[in-house]
Amino acid sequence: MGPVAMVRILDTTLREGEQCPGVCFPPHIKHAVAARLDALGVDIIEAGHPAVTPHIAAAVGDLAGAGLRATVGAHARSLPRDVDQALDCGVGFIGVFYCVAEERLRLHTTTLGSAIKRVQRVIRRIKERSPQTVVRYTPEDTVRSSFANVVTTALAAVAAGADVISIADTTGHLVPGTSRNMYNYVLRLRDALRQGGHNPQLAVHCHNDRGLALANALDAIRAGADIIDCSVLGLGELAGIVDLATLLAVLAADFGHDPYDLTVLPELYALVSAHAGVPVPVHQPVTGANAFRHCAGVHTQAALANPLHYQSLDPQLVGRRPNICLDHMSGLSALRHALADAGHEIDEPALLDSILATVKSTGQAGRTVAAAELGYIVHYCRARQTVPATRECESC
Ligand SMILES: [Zn+2]
Repeated sequence: MGPVAMVRILDTTLREGEQCPGVCFPPHIKHAVAARLDALGVDIIEAGHPAVTPHIAAAVGDLAGAGLRATVGAHARSLPRDVDQALDCGVGFIGVFYCVAEERLRLHTTTLGSAIKRVQRVIRRIKERSPQTVVRYTPEDTVRSSFANVVTTALAAVAAGADVISIADTTGHLVPGTSRNMYNYVLRLRDALRQGGHNPQLAVHCHNDRGLALANALDAIRAGADIIDCSVLGLGELAGIVDLATLLAVLAADFGHDPYDLTVLPELYALVSAHAGVPVPVHQPVTGANAFRHCAGVHTQAALANPLHYQSLDPQLVGRRPNICLDHMSGLSALRHALADAGHEIDEPALLDSILATVKSTGQAGRTVAAAELGYIVHYCRARQTVPATRECESC
């Protein structure tokens, strides 16, 4: 078994996802989202940053007491009042963050020494009040900060009681295959922390500014990272983070890591999309409407014979079915399949030709033909069918 066998998933749709402009889930929707994440089997649900609003604090407390199987977590700045509020919510996991980059420290008119004291103080405070609460420390914008500062602060955080150190690629800066890649970063940090006498769990938080969040997350897994942050639809600040469904599908299909019930995904995505006001893009991998839909004539014919001809992911993995859609690309075999599916038994070649011509001309208008419209087309074409002039009168 490779390192993937041990990897755990932290979903932060309710925390990072709400940092997407305009997204604010009402409490009953947070409850519904958390219940589905729990049914899916994610390991940690980051429920919010309680200090931001009383509304968020109430929701985090509600979820922490909801009896979920997943650990419910909260976000907190490195301030005593923030961690106290998180503890008051009764969460089992608290993530604290503070910058370590020289430029940022100057901006806060502080030094690395004071930053370390501040981080240690809040971690000790959490562990004194609630020793069983898992504490994660994130050096903000980790990968663009001085590596020495990251290591020094992370070692001090672990010495104070932190269980997890998170590597944040806050600006989606890392690129696989270049000198700044996540694989090397995880190995280097793990090594430096071990040399410092500590071996905390490593989490990664990959932003998607370059569209590489998923690739960087897989790089982190290959290097042995313990926890990967994801969200539904990759919702988050700027270009967002790792898309939960895509990562879980790849882990299950390609790494054999499948402790999760991925059939919950379609319902979870519909729920979050509706209440975030963010449509699932039609071509979104795994969860998009077109992810398992075949249209082009040659594809459809092959897909009908064997879905894997033009599909490398099994839609059943996520509780979906492959489907055929009709448009200007469709051919006769797709049409026959769609007609049979809709309960129309048609064998007359002339009628089939006429239906296909109407489907294609409708498709040329830039849309697809759904089952209900196909029924209207069938009736229309039948009605227009002219009786062949050469037909002989059988009674003569
Ligand atoms: Zn983030």
